[in-house]
Amino acid sequence: MRNRTAGLIAVATLAFFSTLAFAQAPAFPPVTVKNLKDNVYVADGGGGTSTIVIGQNGVIVVDAKNREPDGKQLFEAVGKLTNKPITTVIFTHSDPDHVRGLEGFPKGLHLTVIAHENDKKEIDQDLAAGGAGSPPKEYLPNKLVTQTRESMTIEGVKMTLIHIAPAHTTGDLAVYFPDYKVVASGDLLGDGDPSIHLFKNGSSEGWIRFVSALVDLDADSFVRGHADVGTKEQARQALANAIAKRARIADLVKQGKSLDEIKQALREPVKASGRFQTFTETTYEELTKK
Ligand SMILES: [Zn+2]
Repeated sequence: MRNRTAGLIAVATLAFFSTLAFAQAPAFPPVTVKNLKDNVYVADGGGGTSTIVIGQNGVIVVDAKNREPDGKQLFEAVGKLTNKPITTVIFTHSDPDHVRGLEGFPKGLHLTVIAHENDKKEIDQDLAAGGAGSPPKEYLPNKLVTQTRESMTIEGVKMTLIHIAPAHTTGDLAVYFPDYKVVASGDLLGDGDPSIHLFKNGSSEGWIRFVSALVDLDADSFVRGHADVGTKEQARQALANAIAKRARIADLVKQGKSLDEIKQALREPVKASGRFQTFTETTYEELTKK
């Protein structure tokens, strides 16, 4: 009973924070597609960045935009690149701006929707709380990743799906395309500090392990959810910065400093202005959690 109550509270809290954070999201610009290399394209706008790979007989799309009109734009943009059908959609994580746009795809497609098993759990929790941030029922994940690395070939395209640990959320999945040296990193990588959703049980410690594995890949292009495509050097720099900052925060916590004192020591504003908690705030919370 106690667990069930705790579970329900967790679901309600998750729904509340998700709705709050994402309701404050600015409107996204229209979807625009550009060629990254060979038959790999990147679609900005309309939510998180999507990666499009045109395979032998079909198309693989990583991440599906925010809302119905955004997903529709993505679907139509793919139709302008090729007349091959989209057969596979891969989610990098459960945030609405990466999954909910599937509402804008036509009904009745035979889509394989791949996600990490924890991503599916987060979507199930959102559905239990009303489903405001979820893809439509006909396009829920139907192929789940359970291992830290799963390699497969889809439409003749080789890929490795990677999940090292909870990082941005519990269900992060990076998609590595070795023949193109491209990694679709979702929101694991962006500009500035890592984004850790504690309300989805993300973790800075997990993020460091996850991104350490990504920079070890033979890749040169990292598609980032809300930033331009990054280089390996940028990913390495983001990792080094996060490791140093986490160590600094841990040291200040050890000295008994309060969160406000830590922010001051790091020359950060005490009152945050973003819609999500800062890395300093989430790391402090992680390190001081009883
Ligand atoms: Zn996200």
